[in-house]
Amino acid sequence: MYTQVLSVILRCQKMKGMVERMEVLYSSTRDREKQITASQAILKGLSEDGGLFVPDHIPMLPCSIKEFADKSYQETAYQVMKLFLADFTEEELKGCIARAYDSKFDTEEIVPLVEAEGAFYLELFHGATIAFKDMALSILPHLMITAAKKNQVKNEIVILTATSGDTGKAALAGFAGVKGTKIIVFYPKNGVSPIQEKQMVTQKGDNTFVVGIHGNFDDAQTGVKKLFNDKELADAMSVNGLQFSSANSINIGRLVPQVVYYVYAYAKLLKEEKIAEGEKINVVVPTGNFGNILAAFYAKNMGVPINKLICASNENKVLYDFFSTGSYDRNREFKLTSSPSMDILISSNLERLIYRIAGNDTKKNAELMEALSEKGCYSITEDMRVQLADFYGSFADEKETAARIKSMYENTGYVLDTHTAVASAVYQKYKADTKDETKTVIASTASPFKFTRSVMNAIDPKYDAMSDFELIDELSRIGNVAVPKAIEEIRTAPVLHDTVCDKTEMKSVVKQFLKIG
Ligand SMILES: *Cc1c(COP(=O)(O)O)cnc(C)c1O
Repeated sequence: MYTQVLSVILRCQKMKGMVERMEVLYSSTRDREKQITASQAILKGLSEDGGLFVPDHIPMLPCSIKEFADKSYQETAYQVMKLFLADFTEEELKGCIARAYDSKFDTEEIVPLVEAEGAFYLELFHGATIAFKDMALSILPHLMITAAKKNQVKNEIVILTATSGDTGKAALAGFAGVKGTKIIVFYPKNGVSPIQEKQMVTQKGDNTFVVGIHGNFDDAQTGVKKLFNDKELADAMSVNGLQFSSANSINIGRLVPQVVYYVYAYAKLLKEEKIAEGEKINVVVPTGNFGNILAAFYAKNMGVPINKLICASNENKVLYDFFSTGSYDRNREFKLTSSPSMDILISSNLERLIYRIAGNDTKKNAELMEALSEKGCYSITEDMRVQLADFYGSFADEKETAARIKSMYENTGYVLDTHTAVASAVYQKYKADTKDETKTVIASTASPFKFTRSVMNAIDPKYDAMSDFELIDELSRIGNVAVPKAIEEIRTAPVLHDTVCDKTEMKSVVKQFLKIG
């Protein structure tokens, strides 16, 4: 009791000004008893009870958003992230930010906003692996190493990751060669684009390990979650001076850096006088694991004037169905689409939203998640549904997505990748459905160079005869954009990883790589 009171007093001591602001702590969505610091949550990744770590409250922006208008991306990142990562010192956090958002990005401003057909495309794909995952995975390794030092962790950290294509490469690029870490990536062997696969299997670095599995992304993600909760494996690791952490968006260290660009985008629109102070904007997010859109929801709760959060799905429209019926049901055919990073039927981060709309009720949340893992479905109560009014869900099928790429290209010359095209098509449906003319930011999550074949075929089927790299050069020509460095690098790179396993073999493959048992 005494120590608890003391810790509350200590946490309040750093209060600034008149506003009573307590530092953010984290607890599991399935058990609120144990509170831990941000650095501990980043190190753990997932809670032992299978739940996800959530902040005990969403902090408010420290000043009016207008004051962000003249800040650089790095300064904005510091102001936003320090609120969530309260136990990082200023020096530590600024160091992480400086090392993450540097010349790895091929644009000065890190996330450019491009206006096309009246909407603002927030280009989140200018990092090392040309997908928005770089926004968080450029900084996560630095946050993790800092967190390990702060908590006197002596073990080597093993990052275990399931990928639907983009997380894998972005995490590999972030952790390759980082001392004190190893990284293992599982991807669905036939569920990623040829460029995505080539990017991963050519990854250099002795501490990296890439494995294709016979199965889809959900199999990979479920398998990884099982390994995290495998007691025998954890013991064997511990004996050998190793411990797991996660680079998936279940790690709070992935989510927090993603809040930054929504604050930045709003301030940028203000600065360019595209919106007036206080004017609300809509945000459209092409969604898979629900991480990116949850970050936008956190930004809204911090005080960014956001009207609707528009959740765009591809044909795996489990989230659209959830928002329209209140029932989540993964019992359906899994579809492979041209937007593979959204081919997901179990959106992990939705659990963070469910927990919140259940009134932070860990028991209720745990019940629903148990139903999901046992029966593959659950339904939320009317009370919970009412709280989803901020969200609008819709989806675009393969035809609509391709048509969107083509018409955008023909109207403006701007080339959308397949994921962004899903969002763009959904935005058109939203406008037709609601007549809402609120200014809108569309999260542009990948470079079209990552999904060249689908993109070029959408523009003209004649391109299908070309090879992958011929297509890349042709895209560069017709889109009038230079081929990104990330693509040039893999043109001639040798394959360094060729392990493929069954989903039942994931544990033994991990043990082999780590040389344990
Ligand atoms: C990961 C990814 C998404 C989905 O993001 P979530 O945070 O998982 O919802 C969308 N588009 C691209 C290109 C991605 O890599």
